[in-house]
Amino acid sequence: MSLLREAQRCIANQAARKQFNAFIAAANPDNLLYHSGPLNGHLIAIKDNICTKDLPTTAASGILRSFTSPYDATVVLKLQSAGAVIAGKTNLDEFGMGSHSTYSYFGPVSQNVDGKALSAGGSSGGSAIAVAGRECWAALGTDTGGSVRLPAAYTGIVGFKPSYGLISRWGVIAYANSLDTVGILSRDVRVARDIFDVLSEHDRQDPTSIPVSIRKGSAKSHRKDRHLRIGIPSEYNVLELSPAVRKSWLSIISALREHYKATVSFQSVSLPTTRLALPAYYVLAPAEASSNLAKYDGVRYGSRAADAASDAPDRSPLFARTRGEGFGNEVKRRILLGTYSLSAAAIDNYFIQAQRARRLVQRDFDRVFRASNPLLSEEPIGHETADHVVADDGKVDVLLHPTAPTLPPTLDTVRGQTALETYTNDVFTVPASLAGLPAISVPVASVDEQSIETKCGMQVVGQFGNDETVLDVAEMIE
Ligand code: GLN
Repeated sequence: MSLLREAQRCIANQAARKQFNAFIAAANPDNLLYHSGPLNGHLIAIKDNICTKDLPTTAASGILRSFTSPYDATVVLKLQSAGAVIAGKTNLDEFGMGSHSTYSYFGPVSQNVDGKALSAGGSSGGSAIAVAGRECWAALGTDTGGSVRLPAAYTGIVGFKPSYGLISRWGVIAYANSLDTVGILSRDVRVARDIFDVLSEHDRQDPTSIPVSIRKGSAKSHRKDRHLRIGIPSEYNVLELSPAVRKSWLSIISALREHYKATVSFQSVSLPTTRLALPAYYVLAPAEASSNLAKYDGVRYGSRAADAASDAPDRSPLFARTRGEGFGNEVKRRILLGTYSLSAAAIDNYFIQAQRARRLVQRDFDRVFRASNPLLSEEPIGHETADHVVADDGKVDVLLHPTAPTLPPTLDTVRGQTALETYTNDVFTVPASLAGLPAISVPVASVDEQSIETKCGMQVVGQFGNDETVLDVAEMIE
């Protein structure tokens, strides 16, 4: 299809699929000019917590409902100079906090499958729905604890979260800095790889951006031709895993075993601290969020509550009223939670413990991967010590497990869930986030409870910096 036809079709799909609420702001269809480059004229949607100067950036929050950034995020500039056209800004859970894209100032995102309104996953649900419904070619999301991978799994597309620090966060509205990662949503792995190649570059403006020296090591150590050992973590075979998901997991293992007999082997591995990951994440992410969101006080950023003079009986300070009106309930919950766990009385029992748990989770991963962790060993990314190469010590190159414990729930089910029940959706995505590892969700064939054919997300996780290997394995699965 010609690029112009592709763009026009995407824009027509945006108009026809408005009820799913994927976009908060759409680009001007009359302005499809682009530079020539590797992404030549393809339409890419941007999650609305990534700054763009030509379109508003709201993070789906009332407090930023009228905000337009004076500058573009590095990722937006890079996409444009590689030839992409920005398709618009996509809906999300406010500031990225949520798992179903229902906590948005602009209303929930949804998808309709066989007449049922299902969760689009979150928080990058708008980006996922836009890609799945061909409202764009691909999209950017952000993944702090699973927000690219979970929506990809629920909508049957690919969702890639690269290693922490490879893609610039400059101009990305912070949720939890030590975890926030820009990710890519696309309909196949090839496209995710092409966009990753454009975006993965050191950025001097982002102090957490991985330096060039470490990146070079990664490129050198990546080998496509060697025997691959895939780890199956036994702790992920939990009771809560739905039968459909377990079945898809087993079938993809047998399919790979059959198809790649000579080059791939499987190994059961143990990651005993996995159960600590979810509680640790839900202490650390709100703690960082409470500090990041302190700046929205109606003075420096965002919208401001109506003036006290016109609202005489309410004498609470302007910033308290601004925050009370501007933030949604889930964001307020996280601010309270985070402020508490950082308070003098609670910090030792909560924040510090959660930091310890995070280290244990990281160590678990380092123990099972063949490649050493360049962030700990100060060796280049992907470097293998001699004994790893020689000894058959049961270490693996990647892990393979489901992205989420169930297929997408209905929106009615989601509405009936407590906050805690919602958090459990992230049980398989937060471990890689805590360790900053590259992880991708790839759709595989599945059959739901009503025997209807559908897709289920399988996740491939690799050692820090082994993004290319993770993408290679994802291509074998799709
Ligand atoms: N669902 C998780 C949360 O609410 C992850 C969100 C994300 O990755 N942005 O924090």
